[in-house]
Amino acid sequence: MKVVYPADANGNSLYRVFNCIRRYGPLTKKELQKHTGLSWGSISTHTACLLAKKVIVEHTGQSDANKGPNPRLYTINHQKNRIIGIDIQMHRICGAVITLDGKKICSRALNLKSRGAGNAFKKILTVLEALFKVVENPKEIKSIGFSMPGIINREERKPFSVHHFTGVFPADMETVVERKFGVPAFIFHDPDCMLAAHMNNMQPEEYAVMSKSNVLLIRWSYGIGVSILSNGEFYYGDHHAAGEMGHMVVNPLGPRCICGDKGCLEVYASIRCVLEKISRGIHSGELNSEMIWEAYRKKNTRVVSIVNETVDYMASAIINTIKILDPRMVIIEGEFASAPPECIRRLNTALAGRFYGLKTIIQARPWEDSAVIGAAEMLTKRVLLGIITKRQSAWRKKETRKALPSNQMFL
Ligand SMILES: [Zn+2]
Repeated sequence: MKVVYPADANGNSLYRVFNCIRRYGPLTKKELQKHTGLSWGSISTHTACLLAKKVIVEHTGQSDANKGPNPRLYTINHQKNRIIGIDIQMHRICGAVITLDGKKICSRALNLKSRGAGNAFKKILTVLEALFKVVENPKEIKSIGFSMPGIINREERKPFSVHHFTGVFPADMETVVERKFGVPAFIFHDPDCMLAAHMNNMQPEEYAVMSKSNVLLIRWSYGIGVSILSNGEFYYGDHHAAGEMGHMVVNPLGPRCICGDKGCLEVYASIRCVLEKISRGIHSGELNSEMIWEAYRKKNTRVVSIVNETVDYMASAIINTIKILDPRMVIIEGEFASAPPECIRRLNTALAGRFYGLKTIIQARPWEDSAVIGAAEMLTKRVLLGIITKRQSAWRKKETRKALPSNQMFL
């Protein structure tokens, strides 16, 4: 079958060559020329530059017989240029060292016993220390990306609170990390990280369409957040507050939510609400989503009723969101993405035929590592630019952050 690779039409040509190798390598120069549409001269210049900077290497594996005698294949250099991704969850801090093509080298995780932001930050530093200690050649770590729930606006460096955590994270969180570990650090909204990872993981045909489309990723978990890809670029809103789907009010008379408002979707449809409802009146120790799904599969009447009600609330929220944004695809992630098939079927049944005949694809794609890999993925373009221009110190300047918005990463 002929594979059509996306042209990355708007990116600069060096990034197009790099992105093509990163996503589909190992590739020959001829394949790169075919898939990027660039001239032989451009391909030769850019591969030579990427080789000189040790971003790519010649692939030493067996070459495809169709590719002729001894064609040189280029692939990402896994020994150099790594990025750390950290996923900050309500109960857990997960971190991993990731290569430029999204491969996990090593990982560390710590459970959080309290919900204090200060305690969470200490654990983040502990996970980072562990990763720098365990990885071979820590000098190859070029940047650190954090995947965080809640509203992330880091243009004003103020102490910031995040729903699900009590207290505040330090105003200079990135600076503290940069000083301690000597590499630039950035914070991103967690569903954006997950969507970045899923985009990078798509097959060429799907990526070609989705990277220029409107795609939503819903992290349906302890909280509910959505990432909005609008014509291939992340949509943040004017105050970096877009995507707070969990805090849409679904019942104005409903109970108080952690955000301070009343009757938010999270109060009715998050896994946290399911766990709270099920554990009410039961002293069965710590419950988790896996235990809930097991009880659902065994048709425990109370569990099935609570979960189904949750799914119905979420279905309404998805219908409303699709009616406003008309996306080509909605990816469901987080704990609910791993729910039993009957549960996902119930969601699909509730959604069927509700969008005026729109052909929105809705798929649950559970992937445990997507936030941690995606937090690194969000930084790939910046890291490449730093290697090529040797302007690593310039990354820290605010104007450089603005000049290189992460929403352009799919170019
Ligand atoms: Zn709320």
